[in-house]
Amino acid sequence: MPRQGAPAPALAEGDRTVRGLPGVGPAVAAKLAERGIVTLQDFWFFLPLRYEDRTRLVALRDLRPGAPAQSEGRVLAVERAFRFRPTLRVVIGDGEGASISLRFFHFRSQQVQSFQVGRRVRVFGEVRPGAQGWEIVHPSYRLLEDHDEALLNDRLDPVYPQVEGLGPASLARLIGAALQQLPSSEVLEIVPAEVWSRMGMPHLRDALNTVHRPPADADVSALLAGLHPAQQRLAFEELLAHGLSLRRQRITLRRHGAFALPKAQKAVAGLRQSLPFALTTAQERVLAEVRADLSTPEPMLRLVQGDVGSGKTVVAALAAMQAVAAGRQVALMAPTELLAEQHFSNFQRWFAPFDIRVHWLAGKVTGKVRRETLACIANGEAQIVVGTHALMQAGVSFAQLGLVIVDEQHRFGVHQRLALRDKGLEGERVPHQLVMTATPIPRTLAMTAYADLDLSVIDELPPGRTPVTTVAVAADRRAELVERVRKACHEGRQAYWVCPLIEDSEEIEAQAAETTFEQLSAALPELRVALLHGRMKPAEKQDTMRRFKAAELQLLVSTTVIEVGVDVPNASLMIIENAERLGLAQLHQLRGRVGRGTAQSSCVLLYQAPLGAIARERIEVMRRSNDGFVIAEKDLELRGPGELLGTRQTGLAVFRMADLARDAALLPRVHQVAEQLLADHPYVADAVIARWVGSASRYASA
Ligand code: ADP
Ligand code: MG
Repeated sequence: MPRQGAPAPALAEGDRTVRGLPGVGPAVAAKLAERGIVTLQDFWFFLPLRYEDRTRLVALRDLRPGAPAQSEGRVLAVERAFRFRPTLRVVIGDGEGASISLRFFHFRSQQVQSFQVGRRVRVFGEVRPGAQGWEIVHPSYRLLEDHDEALLNDRLDPVYPQVEGLGPASLARLIGAALQQLPSSEVLEIVPAEVWSRMGMPHLRDALNTVHRPPADADVSALLAGLHPAQQRLAFEELLAHGLSLRRQRITLRRHGAFALPKAQKAVAGLRQSLPFALTTAQERVLAEVRADLSTPEPMLRLVQGDVGSGKTVVAALAAMQAVAAGRQVALMAPTELLAEQHFSNFQRWFAPFDIRVHWLAGKVTGKVRRETLACIANGEAQIVVGTHALMQAGVSFAQLGLVIVDEQHRFGVHQRLALRDKGLEGERVPHQLVMTATPIPRTLAMTAYADLDLSVIDELPPGRTPVTTVAVAADRRAELVERVRKACHEGRQAYWVCPLIEDSEEIEAQAAETTFEQLSAALPELRVALLHGRMKPAEKQDTMRRFKAAELQLLVSTTVIEVGVDVPNASLMIIENAERLGLAQLHQLRGRVGRGTAQSSCVLLYQAPLGAIARERIEVMRRSNDGFVIAEKDLELRGPGELLGTRQTGLAVFRMADLARDAALLPRVHQVAEQLLADHPYVADAVIARWVGSASRYASA
C-alpha cells in the first residue's frame, strides 16, 4: 500500500491556518478557534448538521409535526402577551380556513409593526401542538410583497453548527472560501484508496463538496435522511476515526500500571454486615467482578450499568472499602450537587462505624473550609472524598488516590473522567476507575461507545419493589390529580409534581415551577408543599431535599433537577407535566424517583392534547414497560443515539456526520478496517484520528 509509515501528505495543505482566508483577522480567527476550527482541514470537516428544504412550499393545511417545512400565508392577527415573559403571537392563514401561529419570545417592537394584517409571510420551521392549535416557535421568516414572485430554492440549504459571534451567512461564506482550496482527492485521502473502492464509496473530495454544497440534481430525500453516499462515506471515516481513537486509549491505559488493592475480606465483610439489607444476586456478581479487577496491578476501567434503583451506590461503597483498606484514597464524583450530597450522607453513615473519614468538596466549599479540605486531601487524611466537578479542579491534589468512582457517567465527558483519573497519576501508575450509569445502552451502541470499558450489568432490582403503575392523563383533568395528591399525602405518602422544560431555559423552567407551586399550595392548603429548582441556592436546595427526605414535606414541586439519583423511598406518586415534551430516557429517569419503597407507586403523565405520533408512542411505551432496556431500545428507535447517550457522553456522541442508529450497519466493517489500519498503517490511524477526533484523543493519550 502506498503511504505506509509516512504521515499523510494531506496534512501539509490542510494544516494551513484559516488566517489565510479573506476576511479572517485575529478576531474572527479567535472565534473560529473557540469552535475548534484552526486549520483549513478543520473547516473542510466542519460539516452541516442538517439541511433545510426550501425547494418546496407546503400548504398551511398540510403542515405536520416531525419535520420542518416551508410554508406561506397572510397575517390574520397579531397578539402580544405576557406568559412568564413577553410573547409575540402572529396568526397566519391561507384564506381558506387553515391557520397556524408563529410564536416569538425574543422580538423587537419594529418587528411587531412589520406584521401588518394581510401581509404575506413566508415561513420555515416545524409545527407543534401549542395552547392555541398548531404553532411554530421562532420560525425563520421573510415578509413578501404581494407582487413578489414566490421563488423557490433549487438546492438544499446546509445548516451548520453555530459559531459564537459569527452569523450563519459569514460562516457559509468562509466555508465556501475554504472549500475553494480543497486539494485533489489523492492528497486529501488518508485511508488507502482501495478501502473505499472496495466498498464502492465516493472519493472524499466529491463527498465533501456534495455535503457542503448539495448540487441541484442531488437526491434530496437521501440527503435529508443522511443516507446519501457522500454522507455515508464521511460517516464511515468518522466512525473509523472514533473506533481507532478508543482502541488507542485502551492500549495506552494498558501500558500504565495500577496499585493492586488486595481483597480485604474482613473490612468488606464488616461493611456488608452493617447494611440493613442483603445484596441481590446481581449486586453480588458485579461486586465480585469489581473486587477481582481492583486486586490486580492492571488499572480497572469498568462501567457498571444498572437500571434506576438497582442499587449501584452500595456496590461502589464496598469497592471503596477495599481501596481504603489498602491505604489508598477514593474519590467519588457525581454530576449534580443534589446527588453528590446524597452520596456524601450515605457514605458518611456507612463508613462512620469504621472510623473512616469521608470528606465533602463542591464548588461552594470556599475560604477556610476549602483550604482545610484540600490540605486533608493532599496529606491523605481524607480517605474518601465525595463531590462534584470541583474534585477535578486545579488545586485538588491527592496523596495516594487509588480508586476513582464516577456516578451517572453519561453526564460527564470522557475528558472529565480522565482529568480526575490523572489526579492519581503516580509515575506510570493510574488509579482504578469505576463508572456507573443508569442509562441502559443497547448492545450495538455499547460496543461502539464504550469500546474502552469493561461492562458489568446489575440486571435485577432489590426485592419488595412493586413496579410503578403509569397512566397518561390529558392536562384538562388536572383537578382530579390535585385530589389524588391530597389523598396520597393524607395516607402518609409523599409526592413529586414535576414541571419540565417549556422553553430551553432554566429560568423559564424555574418560573413555570414557581407558578405551579403557588397554584398547588393554594389548592392544598393543609399540605406541606415546597419548591425545588436549579435557580435556588445550593443550601436552600439541600435543605428542601433534606426536609422532603425526613418527611417534613409532603409534596415537592420541582423542575427536572430531581431527575438523577434522588432517593426518597416513601415518595409513591409522581405527576409529570408536559410529559409529551420529554424523551423516553428522561421520563424513565424521572419515574425512577418513585417505586423505591414497598408501597404501590404511580406515575401520572400529564399531556397537552393533541398528541403527535411520536409523543403518543413514547407515552405508550412508558405505560407498558418499567424495564430500562426495553425503553432504551425504543428510545434509540424513536430518537437516535445522540440524545440517548447525552451529547457529552464519551466525546463520542458529538459526531459530525455519523449517527449510530442510522449507521449501525456500517459498524462491523468499521471495526474490520480499524484493526487492519492499526496493524498495517499506524501513521494512517494517527492522521485519521487527528482529522476527526482532534484534541480529544491528543488529551486522552497525553
Ligand atoms: P441506583 O442504582 O439507582 O443508584 P441506589 O444505589 O440509589 O440505586 O439504590 C436505591 C435504593 O435501594 C437505596 O435506598 C438503597 O439503599 C436501596 N438498596 C440497594 N441495594 C439494596 C438491596 N440489595 N436490598 C434492598 N435495598 C437496597
Ligand atoms: Mg444512583
